[in-house]
Amino acid sequence: MKGIIMLKFFVKNEQVNEEIIEIIGQDAKHMQKVLRLEVGEILNITDESRNTYKCSIVEFKDEKVICNILENVEEDNENKINISLFQCLAKFDKMDYIIQKATELGIYDVYPVSSKRVVVKLDEKGKVKKVERWQAISKEAAKQCKRTYIPEIKNVIFLKDICNLVPKYDIILVAYENDKSSLKKVLQEMKQNIQNIGIVIGPEGGFDESEIKLLNQYENVYLVSLGNRILRTETASISLISNILYEFDEI
Ligand code: SAM
Repeated sequence: MKGIIMLKFFVKNEQVNEEIIEIIGQDAKHMQKVLRLEVGEILNITDESRNTYKCSIVEFKDEKVICNILENVEEDNENKINISLFQCLAKFDKMDYIIQKATELGIYDVYPVSSKRVVVKLDEKGKVKKVERWQAISKEAAKQCKRTYIPEIKNVIFLKDICNLVPKYDIILVAYENDKSSLKKVLQEMKQNIQNIGIVIGPEGGFDESEIKLLNQYENVYLVSLGNRILRTETASISLISNILYEFDEI
């Protein structure tokens, strides 16, 4: 199949060996069985150190796809600022959607959060399986939008665990419909020295007052409004990420 668009794959650093890259596992199977790629096909391959290579397929051998590096590609499709999404667990199709859209919007990593009003119930095994699923969704979305980095989907945490992570961030924005603080004002005031932003989005049932109180005790945590309407949780995530990208001239 002679591709029109340049297909994108991600590999581990150890799969890159001087001029050769070996694609293995699911990706190799997909290339042969589904995409039916042929020798000579040109691909775009990024390793864990975010090096991107233009490659051509030279051989299919023992369920591996052997590619030859043609040239390094200067490609940096990542945001300059790192945004971590603390997303309270929503119904599963919504979580899939949120993970996919947040990946397309350049999110750095995602913490699925179990909070008081989360309606979905997950046991430990269920949490592990869901995180694996969301990680696969994020990888596919990263390929589709030609990112040079696959966001990490973290293990599910409790809302109170965010408190231990607060020092990691220059600023944490909690999307809270009962607070009318202007997002624009907060971002414009803080814009200079921000590299790492955390954003916290509530579940369908919203935040419990005690959760807002817990988060709002920190100096670098700000409650922000996303306007006068009540947004669905998936809309709120996309809206907040997009507004941050706009304010930081990432788009
Ligand atoms: N309290 C909401 C209600 O009355 O339906 C339920 C929560 S809303 C569906 C889901 C989440 O989206 C909220 O917890 C909040 O994080 C975010 N959100 C929705 N609308 C918002 C707004 N206007 N301003 C800030 N955050 C908002």
